[in-house]
Amino acid sequence: MSKDRSNLDNLRHSASHLLAAAVLQMWPDAKPTLGPPIENGFYYDFDFGKAKITEEDLPKIEEKMHEIAESWKGFEEEKVTAEKAKEYFKDNTYKTEMIKELADKKKDITFYKSGDFIDLCGGGHIDDPKDKLKHFKLLSIAGAYWRGDEKNKMLTRIYGTIFPAEKELSEYLENLEEAEKYNHRTLGKEMELFAIFPEIGPGLPVWLPKGYAMRRVLEDYMIKLERGFGYEHILSPHINKEDLFKTSGHLGFYDESMYAPIEIEDQKYYLKPMNCPAGMTVYKMKTRSYRDLPIKLGEFGTVYRFEKTGELHGLQRVRGFTQNDAHIFCTKEQLVDQIQEVIDMMLIFYKDLGFKKYKFVLALSDPEKEKYKFCGSREGWDWAENTLREVLKNNNLEFTEKVGDAAFYGPKIDVLAENVYGKSDAISTVQIDFNLPERFDLSFVNEKGENERPYVIHRALVGSFERFFAFLIEYYKGSFPVWFAPVQAKILPITDRNLKYAKGIMSELKDQDIRVELDDRSETLGNKIRQAQEEKVPYMLIVGDKEASSPEGFKPGGKNLVSVRLRSEKNLGQMDFGEFIDNLKKKVNEKSVDL
Ligand SMILES: [Zn+2]
Ligand SMILES: [Zn+2]
Repeated sequence: MSKDRSNLDNLRHSASHLLAAAVLQMWPDAKPTLGPPIENGFYYDFDFGKAKITEEDLPKIEEKMHEIAESWKGFEEEKVTAEKAKEYFKDNTYKTEMIKELADKKKDITFYKSGDFIDLCGGGHIDDPKDKLKHFKLLSIAGAYWRGDEKNKMLTRIYGTIFPAEKELSEYLENLEEAEKYNHRTLGKEMELFAIFPEIGPGLPVWLPKGYAMRRVLEDYMIKLERGFGYEHILSPHINKEDLFKTSGHLGFYDESMYAPIEIEDQKYYLKPMNCPAGMTVYKMKTRSYRDLPIKLGEFGTVYRFEKTGELHGLQRVRGFTQNDAHIFCTKEQLVDQIQEVIDMMLIFYKDLGFKKYKFVLALSDPEKEKYKFCGSREGWDWAENTLREVLKNNNLEFTEKVGDAAFYGPKIDVLAENVYGKSDAISTVQIDFNLPERFDLSFVNEKGENERPYVIHRALVGSFERFFAFLIEYYKGSFPVWFAPVQAKILPITDRNLKYAKGIMSELKDQDIRVELDDRSETLGNKIRQAQEEKVPYMLIVGDKEASSPEGFKPGGKNLVSVRLRSEKNLGQMDFGEFIDNLKKKVNEKSVDL
């Protein structure tokens, strides 16, 4: 961590003391718990008891913070005994719990005092709070369990941020506002891509016509890409029998993420949390020979996983989602090539989608941890981990290694891409599995005519269409490349006189499989353009008397004219309609990001 960053951390953590001091003056019965610095700011968690605070209270708290800061000359450290600390915080069970832990571990217990406010704290402050605690803003309120454990009490978390200078603060707040504007929930609603209806259920998004049109384009794209690499596709049902999940081990290891069973004729069924068990079953349906391998079974499989209502978030955290899943069954000798092939597909996919910033993470086992002793031998793990590492190196891909991040059943490579907030979201994954081939007793007949266990690779390029769309919407701020834009062109007739011609243009575009809309409202051209601009439609086709000049109007397949305007507000002027179609198709075929 750089020195600057740690200064910033000290500044932010010091601001959290100031926040706690202000809260205690305004709500003397509130119990402060913990207030660390975080990326982009700080927070402090409080138990407000019976009091309810809302975001409307934040400006008042800020005011109080400014007032208190005037009297803060520094942070005075005092080493105290556990007895003294417990006595001071005797009304605060959270602090006394922490004091007890520190005492048990024989660690120093320190108080920090500024003005009249004393906090139990390990240090990390700035020297001159009076001068430096100025350029801050309280941002939001959220619920947070004490120590992140849902069995504990829900506390109130107040988030804030602070910078060394006012200019930095205002820039940060502007960026935040910008990010809010292009948030996938805001844009998804404005552009009518998806909706979450309370009548249908939280965490269960509905793809609206425009969002679904985009999804279909990407599904078709993916099927084509996968078929090119020798994949075949299956589609398995949303509910599977209980025994299948006993065999796979999901019942037992994954219960917490599964919903309660459904009973049909005395038989229990579960909504599937993963597509793997069905994939394994399909592999097993007949005897497989080494000549058949590798077998690559793809599935756009919809899975259901338990999420608490409070943790649901737009398309990012949902209860049911569709994965661009696949299972590859291969021999040990084929494993390197198969992983390489998945990496090749990833790189094609990111290029076609126009993604530039993404990073690879190699998630490894921790030999010390018990969970990694459950499947696969140590040699097996080492070999598989090296295989993944070698493939990344051979491709000159930069990657970070994370020990202890592997799944319990095998190592994996995750790919993270950067979103509009500068945060990284997981997009794709490729994983080796030591567990399911054993559990399902998978085999193939090798060259010697003996039964041999295949390797199983799980991979998903679009980890989940829902989460991926959240990312895509924010990445492009709704201005999608023409190849998957929900509406590729919008026709704007200048007057009702031009409507017949406009309809001719529309039907020709539809015949050519172009996603098109006609704005036939009796509105001014200016208003129609504004509307199309807000909808971020790549091409606007303006048709007026000049374009529709010939007496016979639109001539199917003949010479027709349109005036073309881009959503960037650039005017391409009048052009031949056939030429426009050719241009658009060229952009689509090239998967061009620019218009
Ligand atoms: Zn502190
Ligand atoms: Zn799987």
